[in-house]
Amino acid sequence: MKRILPQSFTKVRATSALSTQASWQKRHLAWLTAAVFLPLSLMVTAYGVVEYGPSEPVNVRQVTQQLITPTIVSAQSDTPFWREEIIQTGDGLGKLFNKLSINDNQAWEFIRTDPSAKVLYELSAGRLIRAQTTPDGRLLQMSYLNKAGNLIQVIRDGEQLRTQIAPAVTEKYTQQKSGTISSSFYGATDAIGLPDEVAQQLIEAFEQKVDFHNSLKAGDHFSVIYEVEKSGGEDLRTGRILAAQFTNNGQKHEIYWFAGAGIEGAYFDQNGETSGQSFLSSPVKFSRISSGFSRRFHPVLFKWKSHKGVDYAAPTGTPIYSAADGVVTRVTRDAGYGKFIEIKHGDQYSTLYAHLSAFAKGLKPGQSIKKGEVIGAVGRTGRVTGPHLHYEFKVKGTQVNPLTLKLPNSKPLNATQLAQFKPQMLRTKQQLALLSKVELAKLD
Ligand SMILES: [Zn+2]
Repeated sequence: MKRILPQSFTKVRATSALSTQASWQKRHLAWLTAAVFLPLSLMVTAYGVVEYGPSEPVNVRQVTQQLITPTIVSAQSDTPFWREEIIQTGDGLGKLFNKLSINDNQAWEFIRTDPSAKVLYELSAGRLIRAQTTPDGRLLQMSYLNKAGNLIQVIRDGEQLRTQIAPAVTEKYTQQKSGTISSSFYGATDAIGLPDEVAQQLIEAFEQKVDFHNSLKAGDHFSVIYEVEKSGGEDLRTGRILAAQFTNNGQKHEIYWFAGAGIEGAYFDQNGETSGQSFLSSPVKFSRISSGFSRRFHPVLFKWKSHKGVDYAAPTGTPIYSAADGVVTRVTRDAGYGKFIEIKHGDQYSTLYAHLSAFAKGLKPGQSIKKGEVIGAVGRTGRVTGPHLHYEFKVKGTQVNPLTLKLPNSKPLNATQLAQFKPQMLRTKQQLALLSKVELAKLD
């Protein structure tokens, strides 16, 4: 049980998508795109020609004079309006049409009936939706980011409307946050608005050093630097933790992400020793174990059977992550396992994921996979009574209990790698120290 978070750590938050956008809540912008006549810079050229007698040279003087007229601003009646709204939980397109002052039966019919418009219903609470209309509410264009990070647009071409989906143009930023635990870990991460995905990564990064179940104390604190992808000023998704520090019971632990010199990317402590494990503690997030690795009475076969895996109860559709880097060996189905996936991790280890409702698009044997990559979704295919993930961990082909197994670590950095790692690490360490100092000063 040690590697698995107790239920008090599980969290379901319908509004979590809103948390990163809290500051946007108050925004409700409507602005007028005024038609501006460019300053008229009139170039007037006058030729002063004076005629003299034939013997006199002709003196031609060119006079250039600039006439500046004042800027004329005109709010014409057909000037389009831009409006934007934050999508709230429960908002449908009809409601958003109202909020965005779209008054356009043709657009409404298009959205309701056109097959290409189905994609428009992928509304994500917390995201911005923007619309451009004529002053009388005719829709000219509308756009927002969906959950997958694609830019969804409705565009008017003359009398026609069409939809368009394209990957959003994104930029990476780093974000830094620091927090102190008073009652619970998630209480502290919520208090500073740390996204759940980053909180989960923090646990995974430190769980070999910090027992999140039993050893957290009031006053424990952490600082974290992580990547955020933004699109058009909106936070699109959080990326990986680049560095973090966790002080538990007066003991400080640090991790640094390092890629380079033959390393694809992994966490190391300040001495270049590996930090964390090369396997995820569980292949699904925020779920509970419904059946451990043991002998048990099989509810469908009605007989005692050894249970050679761990079951995670989770709703159908919950994403399943590859427990480690590896190569996919099986993507198939049978009567017992239903739809299942097997992944090989190096020479000794493999993992199996069963009863899936779906495989990740295009997943096939022979394919390389990264730790934490989505491989499928929880379901109830095969011999099951309800939706769950059956997870098996094999060492040299034999199932072992992943909850008690001492999982393998990767190698520490060698001299060449250390030479690259050290200067980066020292810079980041300073940044973490500063963050931590600011956090502690708040408590004084
Ligand atoms: Zn099972």
